[in-house]
Amino acid sequence: MKRLIDKLATRRILEKEELLRLLSNCDQNSRSYLFAKARDVDERHFGNQIYIRGLIELTNYCKCDCLYCGIRRSNKKAERYRLTPDEVLKCCETGHKLGFRTFVLQGGEDSRFSDDSIVSLIESIKSAYPDSAITLSLGEKRKASYKRFFDAGADRYLLRHETADPIHYAKLHPNNQTLQNRMRCLYDLKSIGYQVGTGFMVGSPYQTLENLVSDLLFIQDFQPQMVGIGPFLPHRDTPLGHQTKGSMELTLTIIAILRLMIPNLLIPSTTALATIHPSGREQGILAGANVVMPNLTPTSVRKKYLLYDDKACTDQEAAEGLMALQGRLKAIGYRIVVSRGDFKPID
Ligand code: SAH
Repeated sequence: MKRLIDKLATRRILEKEELLRLLSNCDQNSRSYLFAKARDVDERHFGNQIYIRGLIELTNYCKCDCLYCGIRRSNKKAERYRLTPDEVLKCCETGHKLGFRTFVLQGGEDSRFSDDSIVSLIESIKSAYPDSAITLSLGEKRKASYKRFFDAGADRYLLRHETADPIHYAKLHPNNQTLQNRMRCLYDLKSIGYQVGTGFMVGSPYQTLENLVSDLLFIQDFQPQMVGIGPFLPHRDTPLGHQTKGSMELTLTIIAILRLMIPNLLIPSTTALATIHPSGREQGILAGANVVMPNLTPTSVRKKYLLYDDKACTDQEAAEGLMALQGRLKAIGYRIVVSRGDFKPID
């Protein structure tokens, strides 16, 4: 295993079979070795700096029906909400005072948010906080819409590909949602000039290790600027609510592999990781992640953006707990920086 990990660290790429071998045989010893290598690379590129992004969950109305997601259209039990532009600006105001210089607007695919309304929201945020970056995570749109948002000032876009295998994709989504369109969106976003984030769930139902290898190879080929990885966590009011959750160890292993594959990649230690284990956030960072995304959504609706059961949304997951989070990161040797934290190409 060590030889394979060393090879990945120097060449940044492994053959399909080698990746499969690494994922299948990574025991605790190999994992420690892999994580240490990933931390080395992380430190070389980012020092001990952790970037923060303020997450604003804009709306939980969604016209999609992803079988794993708690805010899917068919979940009649979900209590729906959408934030007003004023509420969003308030979140940014709070966030900016706390030191956030990136705001992530994430939401379900809510038709009530017209392109015009999103453009105007981006313009208001940009004019109030010109020193801050805006990341959108609003799902699949037409290229012309992505272009309008970009021209209005949006800097980045997060759209996980969810799984790079079309057959697996079809098991997790209804027929009218295709991997082909998801990929089309990702390539459109990249060609427009966004810093693009993609990613997937680890341990999603029916996922095989071969699927995960395809995910890694897709990422290697696509070369995104950000990759979000989290364990699948079931939501009781979805068709996949009785499936087993993903593994934290495998999630961490994949974070570390990604760090070695793309040394300057922005990798968040996700809320799903923080949910699956009390120290998941820190463990993600110790496996090579370098971004955290505390929640700036108004507390009154925060519990309603429930993608999976028991989502961590208290204490340090919340922006109010930033000081506490800072303390916990300091304890493992890292520090949060006040910065947009843009992707930097390696010279
Ligand atoms: N509508 C936006 C935002 C989706 S929510 C979009 O389509 O991109 C952000 C991510 O949460 C999803 O991409 C998915 O990977 C993750 N997610 C959804 N349900 C989940 C679950 N049950 N367990 C873990 N992660 C989940």
